[in-house]
Amino acid sequence: MKIEELIIEGKDKTVYATDAEDTVLIRFKDLTAAFHSIKKAVLNGKGAVNCQISSLIFRKLEEQGIPTHYIATVGDCEQLCEKVDIIPMQFIVRNVIAGSTARLLNVEPGTKPSNVIYELRYNNAAAGFPSINQHHAVALGIVTYEELDGIKETLRRVNEYLTGLFASAGITLVDFKLEMGRTPGGRIIVADEITPDTCRLCDSRTGEIMDKDRFRYDMGGVCDAYREVLARLEKVKD
Ligand code: 5GP
Repeated sequence: MKIEELIIEGKDKTVYATDAEDTVLIRFKDLTAAFHSIKKAVLNGKGAVNCQISSLIFRKLEEQGIPTHYIATVGDCEQLCEKVDIIPMQFIVRNVIAGSTARLLNVEPGTKPSNVIYELRYNNAAAGFPSINQHHAVALGIVTYEELDGIKETLRRVNEYLTGLFASAGITLVDFKLEMGRTPGGRIIVADEITPDTCRLCDSRTGEIMDKDRFRYDMGGVCDAYREVLARLEKVKD
């Protein structure tokens, strides 16, 4: 397959067109950015480990019958994926209170709520990436109520599966962010990536942090922690 023009250069990934109209090549970068890119660094090897983690997880989601954009891994840092229009929203799922929700609710981080918390965020820098509700999303014309119902069911299934997968690896899935894409045929599928950059993960026994918070809060050992996540996921038996 031939790589053609650059479609978009993101913070963590670069997306290229290919000579197959419905397929893009996604290259995972070593660049890491946090706090809306106020903090940035190049972490050698991050692109490769995240590409391998996301590939493993997307393959497993596909095996569960959850449709994703993933087609194949074609290099250390590269995936072939279905071309989609990314819906400009972040879909956040929380099993344990942490991060912005701990601050919003003034609840101790680490508290386990009785229910799973679902949040929507509008991916719009000029608006300041605000939290929105389903009515805002429909009013913006970016999704319909019916599509949101389908996405909610996908989030529930992804969370149920990933919570178990990570638990088998001795890791607690605290929260995660998904992005969804719309295919030319109008199907909505899981897109972007699922990695320690987009999830909060901690060792189930020791509580050690294994995700991007290590970068956000200068804890060091970011790529070592990501490699440990990959090594443990690779050992999980189906
Ligand atoms: P929080 O809202 O607590 O900052 O983040 C909730 C979850 O979504 C965390 O797992 C976090 O890593 C992920 N997340 C939220 N916003 C972003 C973002 O802009 N980029 C990435 N990569 N992950 C995000």
